[in-house]
Amino acid sequence: MPQEITVGSHVWVEDQELAWVDGVVTSVNGNEAEVETINGNQVTTKLSKLYPKDMEAPDTGVDDMTKLSYLHEPAVLHNLATRYGIKEIYTYCGNILIAINPFQAISHLYDTELMDSYKGAQLGDRSPHVFAITDVAYRAMNNEGKSNSILVSGESGAGKTETTKMIMRYLAYLGGHAAAEARTVERKVLESNPVLEAFGNAKTVRNNNSSRFGKFVEIQFDACGQISGAAIRTYLLEKSRVCQISEPERNYHCFYLLCAAPPKEIEKYKLGDPKSFHYLNQSSCYELVGVDDSHDYLATKKAMDIVGISVEEQDAIFRIVAAILHLGNIAFALEGEDSSVLEDDKAKFHLQVTAELLMCDLEALETALCKRNMVTPEEVIKRSLDPLGAAISRDGLAKTIYARLFDWLVKKINVSIGQDPDSKCLIGVLDIYGFESFKTSSFEQFCINFTNEKLQQHFNQHVFKMEQSVYQEEEIDWSYIDFVDNQDVLDLIEKKPGGIISLLDETCMFPKSTHETFAQKLYQTFKDHKRFVKPKLARTEFTIVHYAGEVQYQCDQFLDKNKDYIVPEHQELLSTSKCSFIASLFPSLNAETPKSGKFSSIGSRFKVKSYVLASLLQLQLQQLMDILNSTEPHYIRCIKPNSDLRPEIFENVSVLQQLRSGGVLEAIRVKCEGYPTNRIFSEFLERFSILVPEVLKETVEENVACKSIMEKVGLSNYQIGKTKIFLRAGQMAELDGRKAKL
Ligand code: ATP
Ligand code: MG
Repeated sequence: MPQEITVGSHVWVEDQELAWVDGVVTSVNGNEAEVETINGNQVTTKLSKLYPKDMEAPDTGVDDMTKLSYLHEPAVLHNLATRYGIKEIYTYCGNILIAINPFQAISHLYDTELMDSYKGAQLGDRSPHVFAITDVAYRAMNNEGKSNSILVSGESGAGKTETTKMIMRYLAYLGGHAAAEARTVERKVLESNPVLEAFGNAKTVRNNNSSRFGKFVEIQFDACGQISGAAIRTYLLEKSRVCQISEPERNYHCFYLLCAAPPKEIEKYKLGDPKSFHYLNQSSCYELVGVDDSHDYLATKKAMDIVGISVEEQDAIFRIVAAILHLGNIAFALEGEDSSVLEDDKAKFHLQVTAELLMCDLEALETALCKRNMVTPEEVIKRSLDPLGAAISRDGLAKTIYARLFDWLVKKINVSIGQDPDSKCLIGVLDIYGFESFKTSSFEQFCINFTNEKLQQHFNQHVFKMEQSVYQEEEIDWSYIDFVDNQDVLDLIEKKPGGIISLLDETCMFPKSTHETFAQKLYQTFKDHKRFVKPKLARTEFTIVHYAGEVQYQCDQFLDKNKDYIVPEHQELLSTSKCSFIASLFPSLNAETPKSGKFSSIGSRFKVKSYVLASLLQLQLQQLMDILNSTEPHYIRCIKPNSDLRPEIFENVSVLQQLRSGGVLEAIRVKCEGYPTNRIFSEFLERFSILVPEVLKETVEENVACKSIMEKVGLSNYQIGKTKIFLRAGQMAELDGRKAKL
């Protein structure tokens, strides 16, 4: 790309450790150059792999990437690192906000005074901030009467949830009510966060407070721009965590909170040391640095009060949480050849407590755990499960109860906050898990990455549209900009029929199929698909070439994980619980009446006996896309600067990878395909009239002067707009190069 690289040029050169390092060209031979880097290395590399360094870039960086004179990957990275170094965590890339997690409290960054200063300010008037983006969204909604959405993405620990909370706080500030008694709506909206976090967040390797579900909060406003209602939708809670955790992670926060409750509660729920519970002691991490579980227990209850969960309901909720812990301690031993019995007195004790807390019959509970009904044409026979089967049955029950409890909480919060049927405008805030690729990626990653592909398509279309609108405003030609879509990956995953999800569903319906037959089917169907790869020697793995990179999936557990199935015996047991709260979580399948309205999908989930999760997600995502498509989107890309969760450390390679997965580099690519740099005529003249000093004397019109400079230097393909000159990639560097030679 760069022209005019000669001896003495300051350049960026690739570096394994730092991604990019700057240096000076010491010699040029044909199409190769030798560079002495600032870390003292001599590197020989192709000229085409070098990028010019802008020696006029300000020491404090620029607050918007589009102000970079040379818009390329190393410049973008350097700019972010520079700003992060001076605690400027926010930077724009056009109208995308990049937010780098500071991993420390930055003083005054979210003060009320600061909120005041962003109110009504134009984007770019003040330094980049999440308040600025939110303010733009809010104003656009008020002025144009159109719904807006703010999409927050990034990898685990990047700061999405914190950012989302700031957006919600700022919206409550803008659209809050003056009178105290009217403030309940926004208080409920804000307090829904700690409640959902207690039940849906957990410590993971990547984040001490990791959200294990996706969330879309729709905040409704009345004609005066005041908050009048809200709706929360959640996606894909990670259920497996309830019964399986590994070092150094934790289970969902609520379990530890409850174990740290006041003595009265501990006694009531027969709890004790978290170390004594199988669902917690699979990892040796019980406490979190800087977190006081007993304080948070009370805080969570307070938040539950505010969102409208009654004392009785709270009792039932924590009774269920305690029951799940006891349930996990019901261990089984082998009896006879392949039956199971409770392992010992301890198991018997926990069975008894579980039955008490769930208010169901003790024997029925034991039977539901250890036996299955076999239906033959003549009769129903009870077949015993072996200890492993019984443990799987127990864990399945724990997961189902927890998932339904979580769904109940979301539904309850929605009912309590209330929907404003008259609201014409809303601001949607999306906090959803980012792209994931692990050594072994499974069904969960498949779902997460599918979600990200959907959002990426939305993002691409938006970025492209925005880019066009700049050109249109300046009335320049943009027709030839190439736009690469990820529709082919989406087709691979979700095409009906024939996509991976369809094939998975079909496989799940067919009783004899295994993950091997599923894999074979995939290999056969997609052998010529550009985005699908069968790894060498693979028998049950497949690779998808996602927009953010290749991910290899292990399909071992795809079938099981896709089935969201409740064992009929469990259903029967809990639907007859004497606790009406619990019974209501398991409405009898026949008695269920169809629900209507916004949350029918959650209601109708209970009706269906068995589910295929991937297609449920597909449906939910389609609904999400429909909403998003009716809004004006704003994007915030959160970046995790290091994997140690420590302040002041900026790891180039990982940041670049995130910029890639978050589509920031793609947005820049689209820009580079067109006119990555533009300058107001006067600015351009100030910088370059020295190249052709006579132009200023000859002409008065700025645009004509700009044109003359370009012509005299021999550059073409640029565009003159109404107020700005638009340059192709590399042209700015070329002009600077000429200047340096004067
Ligand atoms: P996950 O996908 O795992 O839910 P996330 O992107 O939601 O991750 P957060 O929980 O928002 O990540 O952030 C992780 C941690 O980083 C927070 O608990 C907090 O300690 C810190 N953090 C994030 N944003 C900020 C900020 N703006 N200021 C100070 N600390 C922050
Ligand atoms: Mg989160």
